[in-house]
Amino acid sequence: MDLSYGVEYERYRERVREFLAANWPPQKEDGASRSEQVVRFRERATAEGYLNRHIPKRYGGSEQPPDVIEAQILREEFGRAHAPMEARGIGTMMLVPTLLERGEEWQKEKFVPGTIGGEITWCQGYSEPGSGSDLASLKTKGELVDGEWVISGQKIWTSGAQHADYMFCLCRTEPDAPKHAGISYLLIDMKQPGIDVRPLRQMTGTADFNEVFLNEVRTPEDWIVGKRGEGWLVSRTTLKHERNSIGAAAQSETLLHGLVSLAKKVERNGRPAIQDPSVRQRLAQVEGLVRAHQYSGYYQLTKSAKDESPGRLGLMNKLVSTNIGHEVAKLAVDLLEDDALVAPGARDIGDAIQNAPGWITQYMWSLGIAVAGGTANIQRNIIAERGLGLPRDAAADRSAGK
Ligand SMILES: Cc1cc2nc3c(=O)[nH]c(=O)nc-3n(C[C@H](O)[C@H](O)[C@H](O)COP(=O)(O)OP(=O)(O)OC[C@H]3O[C@@H](n4cnc5c(N)ncnc54)[C@H](O)[C@@H]3O)c2cc1C
Repeated sequence: MDLSYGVEYERYRERVREFLAANWPPQKEDGASRSEQVVRFRERATAEGYLNRHIPKRYGGSEQPPDVIEAQILREEFGRAHAPMEARGIGTMMLVPTLLERGEEWQKEKFVPGTIGGEITWCQGYSEPGSGSDLASLKTKGELVDGEWVISGQKIWTSGAQHADYMFCLCRTEPDAPKHAGISYLLIDMKQPGIDVRPLRQMTGTADFNEVFLNEVRTPEDWIVGKRGEGWLVSRTTLKHERNSIGAAAQSETLLHGLVSLAKKVERNGRPAIQDPSVRQRLAQVEGLVRAHQYSGYYQLTKSAKDESPGRLGLMNKLVSTNIGHEVAKLAVDLLEDDALVAPGARDIGDAIQNAPGWITQYMWSLGIAVAGGTANIQRNIIAERGLGLPRDAAADRSAGK
C-alpha cells in the first residue's frame, strides 16, 4: 500500500507551506483585530486558490478544478499551521453547496459571496416538535398570497437562530400532496415581524439552539430553492453536506492527540495515568478506532481521486466519527475523575489540569452531535438498508428521515 501522494502533489504541498509560512500567523497589522486578520488571510488564501475552491470566481470563490488530493493536502497543512480554513457556519457548510447545486442564478449571486465572506449568517429550519427523524411529517405551513409566501408554524433545535440573518426552511406548501411531495425549501429573512426566537439552554450552560415561532412571516415568491413541492429533494442535498462535514477523520485525530497529552498530565496511583495498564489499554482501543477511521478516509480519498463511489464506507462517516468523539471524551472524563463533575464553565481547574473544562464540554457535546443531522440509530438504518441491502425498517414510513 502506498500512502504517499506522489512527487507532483508533494511539490504542491511545498507551495502551500511557503504560502502559510509567509501569511500565517499574520504580522501585527496596524490596529487590525483578530477577526479582521482572519478575513484578510482568507481573502489571500482564496486568491491563491487554496480556499473556497469549488465556488466559481463570480460568487467570490477561487474556482479550482476538483482535486481531492490537493484538498486533502490543504486540510493537512492548514491544520498543521493552525491556519483558518473556510468559515464553518451552517451557511457555508450546508446552504452554499445546496444553492450551487440547485439554486437559481440570482440566488447564487445574492447569497453565496456574503455567506462565504462571513457577512451573512444562516440557520437551518428543518426540525419541529414531533418531526425530527420523521422529518417529512413537518407541519409548518407556507401559503402563496399575492406574490408572497406566508409562513406559520414552529421550528425547534434551530442552531444559531438567535444570531442568523436568514433561515433555509422546510415548509408544507402542498397540503393535499403525499407527505414528501408537499414540502418546499424557502429562504426567509429572520429580521422581520412575526419571528419569535427563544433560546434553549443546554447542559453545557450555553444556549446554542432555539425554538423559532413563525407567525405569518413573509418571503418573496421566488425565494424558493427548487420548485414547489421539491423541498424534500433539495433538503437531501443539504443533509449530505451536513453529514460529510460532521464525519471528517481529522477531528478524531486531533481529539486523540489531546487525550494522550491529558493522560500524560493527570495522575493515577501516584504516577502519570498514561503509565497505568488499564488506561493504556483503553487508549490503545481508542487509537485503533481512530486509525481505522483515518485509513478508511484514505481509502475513500483514493476512490474519489479515481472518480469512483466510496460505497457503503461513505455512509458510515458520521456514525463512526461521532462514536469516536464520544469514546475519546468518555475516557478523558474518566481520567479527570471528580474534577469532571464541575460545571463545564468552571475555570478554576483549568490551570491544574490541561483543558479540563474543554473536555467536560466535549463530553456533553458528544451526546448532542450524535443526534444532530440524523441520530445514530437512523444512521444505522441507512447503513443497513442502503449499504448492506437489508430489508427496510418496520417504521419505514419515516422514509429516510433526518
Ligand atoms: C446539537 C444539535 C443541533 C441541532 N441543530 C439543528 C438545526 O440547526 N436545525 C434543525 O432543523 N434541527 C437541528 N437539530 C435537530 C436534529 O436534527 C434532531 O434532533 C434529530 O433529527 C432527531 O430528531 P428528534 O430530536 O425529534 O428525535 P426523534 O426523531 O424523536 O428520535 C428519538 C429517538 O428515537 C430514535 N428513532 C426515531 N426513529 C427511529 C427509527 N425509525 N428507527 C430507529 N430509531 C429511531 C432516534 O434514534 C432517537 O434515539 C439539532 C439537534 C442537535 C442535538
